[in-house]
This record gives sequence, C-alpha cells and structure tokens, in this order.
Amino acid sequence: MMGLMQQMPLNISSLIVHAEKHHGDTEIVSRRVEGDIHRTDWAGIARRARQVANALDGWSLALGDRIATLAWNGYRHLEIYFGVSGSGRVLHTINPRLHPDQVAWIANHAEDQVLCFDMTFLPLVQKVHAQCKTIRHYVALCEAAALPADTGIPNLVSYEAWMGQQRPTYDWAEIDENTASSICYTSGTTGNPKAALYSHRSTILHAFAAALPDVMCLSARDSVLPVVPMFHVNAWGIPYSCAMVGAKLVFPGAQLDGKSVYELLEAEGVTFAAGVPTVWQMLLGHMKPAGLRFGTLQRTVIGGSACPPAMITAFREEYGVDVLHAWGMTEMSPLGTLCTLKNKHQSLPPDQQMTIRLKQGRAIFGVDMKIVGDDGQEQPHDGVAFGDLLVRGPWVIREYFKGEGGDPLRDGWFPTGDVATIDADGYMQITDRSKDVIKSGGEWISSIDIENIAMAHPAVAMAACVGVKHPKWDERPIVVVVKKQGLEVSRDELIDFYQGKTAKWQIPDDVVFLDAIPLGATGKMLKTELRKKLIDYKLPGT
Ligand code: AMP
Repeated sequence: MMGLMQQMPLNISSLIVHAEKHHGDTEIVSRRVEGDIHRTDWAGIARRARQVANALDGWSLALGDRIATLAWNGYRHLEIYFGVSGSGRVLHTINPRLHPDQVAWIANHAEDQVLCFDMTFLPLVQKVHAQCKTIRHYVALCEAAALPADTGIPNLVSYEAWMGQQRPTYDWAEIDENTASSICYTSGTTGNPKAALYSHRSTILHAFAAALPDVMCLSARDSVLPVVPMFHVNAWGIPYSCAMVGAKLVFPGAQLDGKSVYELLEAEGVTFAAGVPTVWQMLLGHMKPAGLRFGTLQRTVIGGSACPPAMITAFREEYGVDVLHAWGMTEMSPLGTLCTLKNKHQSLPPDQQMTIRLKQGRAIFGVDMKIVGDDGQEQPHDGVAFGDLLVRGPWVIREYFKGEGGDPLRDGWFPTGDVATIDADGYMQITDRSKDVIKSGGEWISSIDIENIAMAHPAVAMAACVGVKHPKWDERPIVVVVKKQGLEVSRDELIDFYQGKTAKWQIPDDVVFLDAIPLGATGKMLKTELRKKLIDYKLPGT
C-alpha cells in the first residue's frame, strides 16, 4: 500500500520562496569587493534571483546548462545560487585559487556556457577566456559604470545591466527533484579534478540535516558568517540551510584577514561562523595581542582539515565560544560528521571532554559509516581499531560527472580515502588520509596526532608530519615546522616537547624548519608537494 501524502519535489527554488515569504525582512549583509558594506534581505535576494532566472532565459540557455561563477561570498553570488538552480540550470562554482590552466580545464570539462565573475578576478578571466571553448557569455559582477571599456573579453556584460532590466516575477521551474542543481570539482591534488554533481533532492536533504541541533543548530535567531567560500562545496551548504531556517547571512567578500572578519562579526551580531582552521588562526592572531573579545559569537564550526586542540582550547576557554569540529568532503555535499557531546559526557572532566571534541564527530542522520581493514573486513567500533572509512547516504556521490574514474563505489559504499577509528559511542576520528599514513616497524603512526602536538607549542605556526624511508623501521616520522613570526624553538626543544605526550616510538626522529608549507587551493596542506621539497632529505644517522 502506498502512502497518501502529496508529492512535492524537493526543489531549491522552494528554499528561496520560503525565505521570502516567512523571513523577507531578515538581513543579508555583504562586504563588497567595491569596499563598502551592502545591505539587503531575503525578499531582495528572492526578487533579484528571479531577475537572474529571466536573464538566463533571455539567453536561451537550456535546462541543465552549466553556469559558472568565480566569486567571493556576497549577495550577488547568493542571487546566482538561487537564480541558476531554481530555473533548472546547474551552478558551477569554480575555485579561483586554482592554477589558471586548471580553471580553464574545469570550465571546458563542465562545458560551462556562462561565467559570472567578481572584478577581483578580471585579470584571471582575461588570462583564461581564450582557452574556455564553451563559454558564450561573460558577466562581470558590478555596475555598468564599473566595467572597463577594453577588457579583451568577448560578450562581456555587467551583472547589474544584464539582470537589472529583467522582470522581477518568475515561475520557478517544476523539475524532478533528482535533476542536477550544482557541480563542484574536487581539488585534484593527484591527476585532473573530478566533479560531484549534486541534485535538488540531495541539496535539500543536506540542508535539513545541516540545520539540526546536533549539527550546525541553525535558526531564525542566528546571524551566520560563512568564512568558508561559496566556491568550496557550496560553503558547506550554509546558504541553503540559512534560507530554510530564515537566518541572517553575513558575507565577508574578499577580506578574510583577522581584522576584517573580527569587525564584521562584531558589527553584525554574528552568532555562528564557519571556516577552515587557517582562517581562525588569523582571527585569533589578530584578537589576542589587542585583547579583543567577542560580543555575540556563540559557536563556530571548524572543518576541512583537522582542528588543532590549541584552537579548540583558545576558543572555548579564552573566548567562551563553542567549537564544533566537522568532517566531510566534496563527494558528500560535504557534511558527514560533526562533533557535539552527548548528555552522558557533560559531567566528564575537561581533559576527557577534550579527547572527544578532538574527534571529527558522530554521523549525521542520513550518513552511514563503517571502517574496514586491508582484507575488507569491517573493524570494531572500539575507538582503537582503524581502517578505511566508507560512507553511504542520499547526499553521498554515486558516480563522478561524466563517469570519470569508473565506478567509485565498493558494494554500494563510497571509500573516502580517509583512515579512521570509530568508538563505541559512534564518534569517528580521522587518523590520516590513506596515502599519508606512516608505517613504522609494522605499526601505524597518525600524522595528525603528531602535528597536533607540535601545534600546541607556542612558537609553532604550522606543522606537517610526513614519513621518510628508514633502513630498519621502513618509515619514520619527521615533523616539518613553520615558526610563528618573531618566536624561536630549536629542533631539540621541540623533540623534547613530545616527551610524555605520545608513545616514545611515535616521537618524530627529526624536525625540519621551513618558511612555508605548500597549501592547496582549499587551504589544505599539500603533502605530495612537501615530499617533493624533501626529496634530498636524509634522516640523521641513516
Ligand atoms: P575536500 O573534498 O576538498 O573538502 O576534502 C575532503 C578531505 O578533507 C577529507 O576526505 C579529509 O581527508 C579532509 N578533512 C575534512 N575535514 C576534516 C577534519 N575535520 N579533520 C581531518 N581531515 C578533514
């Protein structure tokens, strides 16, 4: 017997319709690349999203056509999010931090028809447009008057001139909820990037899940500042969840330095912020010397790479801000787990709570996880046994765009490429990327653990642990360190610092000091590049 409830497709347009109807006067604030602060609200975003949809119709773009952006977090980008997907086209947010050749490669692979870009990226577009074979229209996200006359870019219009003249009414497309809505390329640290193609259904289900109390706990009472870029896995789904719950959004634009982010947090009464550890490091680095405090910030979600314990402590103990450690990936829309304590953990002493907070967290409803050994056998959930982390769920990838790389699934599960433990309470902890695991004398060493200890030293700004060949132990860990400006620490002092903090055999054999650790386009350490830098390195005594 079938249920007798209404069949309403889960479409992204329903989010903006809801936000306008029920939260129309809730503010959307943006620091613009023009330098000023711009204010609109959900009703304004909805009206202009409809104008974007009309403007796209005017160019006779078919359903499913890819519309690309090279843009910071801001209101125009948000209008494009809803205007593009709502009208049945596919939003392709390109990461501007990629190499220009990679930007062109991605645009060609996605067969983008339109590219909308912030004026910051005009030089980038000038560099790549000749290589972009499928793009028919370029849209500069500015007023007509701000567009230089001679850019050399063909079919270029200003956004305001293009969409500003359109009707503000639009009948959102009635589309199957399984239709593609947006596309994101993985960072492609090895080989060419591959793309995850999200659907309206997967996006809406992810938005519901992200807003849950034990996830981001988003509501109409929140003022939300996503520092995580809208070109990085749709800013972790925050624009969609905020429309769903009617939260205020505050966009930082291009200014992600500690001072600018702090000023915006304070001026706009931000209660919730989200970003990768490096941006929070810049924020705390600005606040500490000046003795600044947060007026309204209650919680922050930190993910994308492991959150160092020193950061959790600083936020919680010095500033009274709850840190939510999160894990996910492009192939998962991206949220997989988030770390909040259970009731029974509330009475634990702080150090035991910290042990839990450092984990990447519990599976969000909708995400199923398991860990398997080399033999494919499922490992116990005891917090000790580790294995390859596999996931499945309605917002987890089934296949890459254009079938790149063949079938990625193993018996219906997606192998994440991460190695993890899961404890009896369901908390998952990443120990490594599978390709970064260090195997010493047959035992595995977690590079993340080794990095976290170094990061707790007051003179260490960044630490990366890699394995190097060893004649007896096969591999031994060394730690590559970038020192904080003006602070000193010697090799021996740092090795000493490890004593008592980890098993003796896990203490790195050596410390290498560098001025910088290579970072990828999404701010993650590029260990492949780091290993290339260390190609001539030899362990002392070998
Ligand atoms: P991306 O698809 O670029 O978002 O990268 C996803 C990968 O980032 C994951 O597979 C993890 O290796 C890593 N990652 C994401 N969040 C975390 C976290 N909280 N701790 C450790 N690694 C993480």
